[in-house]
Amino acid sequence: MNAQNLKGKNWTARKVDSTYIVSIADKSSLLESLTDFVVTQKITAGQITGIGATNQATLRFFDPQTKKYVDKTFREQMEISNLSGNISEVEGKAMLHLHITLGRSDYTALAGHLLDAKIRGAGEFFVYPLNSNVVKVKNEEVGLNFYDFEK
Ligand code: FE
Repeated sequence: MNAQNLKGKNWTARKVDSTYIVSIADKSSLLESLTDFVVTQKITAGQITGIGATNQATLRFFDPQTKKYVDKTFREQMEISNLSGNISEVEGKAMLHLHITLGRSDYTALAGHLLDAKIRGAGEFFVYPLNSNVVKVKNEEVGLNFYDFEK
């Protein structure tokens, strides 16, 4: 086993062999912190999962008719019951594609594509990098970034 402790903007992490455990600080932006993490660690492909809590989350819902996202912000204390996503490169930049399920105080759930969330409580993530560049390219017909395994 090979372990190494790491630190960045609003996050600390431990790398164990090739897996990272990432802790995002209370009151910080999930997207900013995770983006700083993947950029500084030079992770260009992989999988991410997580749990935690938030008090403000902006979800997006893609409308294939208009090819646009409709955003909605929820300002209340919620459990991040699951965050699931992938890391790839779009136009040479690291891109996180994240989906989230949020548990409300009445135990119902909200879910969607995640634009950003503010951590309020803990933010605990596992990141599984791949030693390969994985590229996504915008598909103009659909309006979304799709994997392009030829690149
Ligand atoms: Fe999505």
